[in-house]
Amino acid sequence: AQSTRESMFIVNNFARDYFQNILKNHVDGRSIGMAYLRQRGFRDDIIEKFQVGYCTDSHDSLAQEALRLGYKKEFLVKTGVCYETDDHRLRDRFWGRIIFPVHTLSGKVVAFGGRVLSTQTKGIKVKYVNSPESEIYHKSSELYGIFFAKQAIVKQDRCFLVEGYTDVISMHQAGVENVVSSSGTALTPGQIRLIHRFTNNITVLYDGDVAGIKASLRGIDMLLEEGMNIKVCLLPDGEDPDSFARKHNSEGFQNFIRDHESDFIRFKTNLLMEDAGKDPIKRAELISDIVRSISVIPEAIVRDVYIKECSQQLRIEEKLLVAEVAKLREAQA
Ligand code: ATP
Ligand code: MN
Ligand code: MN
Ligand code: MN
Repeated sequence: AQSTRESMFIVNNFARDYFQNILKNHVDGRSIGMAYLRQRGFRDDIIEKFQVGYCTDSHDSLAQEALRLGYKKEFLVKTGVCYETDDHRLRDRFWGRIIFPVHTLSGKVVAFGGRVLSTQTKGIKVKYVNSPESEIYHKSSELYGIFFAKQAIVKQDRCFLVEGYTDVISMHQAGVENVVSSSGTALTPGQIRLIHRFTNNITVLYDGDVAGIKASLRGIDMLLEEGMNIKVCLLPDGEDPDSFARKHNSEGFQNFIRDHESDFIRFKTNLLMEDAGKDPIKRAELISDIVRSISVIPEAIVRDVYIKECSQQLRIEEKLLVAEVAKLREAQA
């Protein structure tokens, strides 16, 4: 007999094929879904590669077709492609949305992300709906795009980290394939280890506004702890990797990053220094924050390099920083 997990993968494969077929061949798929993707500038080969699909807004067209073909309600619900209403009817979770299948490292479809079309129901529906956690989908250990990126990550010995589905897809279209997304949430240790299997080097690509950056600084300390080299690149104001990649080819994109990326600790120090200004309490907080980041770095030599640099940047005696870092490391041990 098939295990639950096997049955869930079968249902996800069916749903992926179904959504893809709707996008390519169904009248609504073509005139609404495909029209939307084309208008955003996504090429056919990229849409095909990422197995992008469309779910019509009929509310239960996938559910009906799946039941007709003999797929069991249990697994349609367990995977989350459908849900059951209070009066026990089966509904499509992703109705009226563009579908982005989420692949594991080995290419199995474990989940879907569904995006509303900007022209429809704006403000009424949330922009993205994702599959719920399930026996086959643990959001915190998957990275969107890893299946399509792993070879390029090894080859380039670097991984770009972006926020969203469309960032990953647009960068591929621009010829930059070593990119993954944590899908809008802070990185988890499991996701970090997944990247670490392929490279030591991560470049985080943020969009131009500083608000989100601060929130994710703490998440990045986890990357330091893993002994990874982290760079940060701010895109021009108002751009995300998707919009930026549309305006540049692979060379232009990579050149921009080369010219604008900075080391993470340096970046963090600058950012916090601007924030703290001359306020002594804020400065003290900033120093202990930076000291904490340095203290989690596993290699002594790397720590030492940062201590030297930060002592200049922060105008603090090196000896003092050394002592603070040592204190924290003892406490962590
Ligand atoms: P687009 O380019 O289509 O507007 P985006 O990726 O730029 O999409 P953002 O609003 O920047 O969209 O969100 C980044 C990522 O965060 C999304 O790709 C998605 O994975 C996740 N996300 C955003 N909004 C939600 C939501 N309401 N629920 C769950 N995940 C979300
Ligand atoms: Mn390593
Ligand atoms: Mn975005
Ligand atoms: Mn975007």
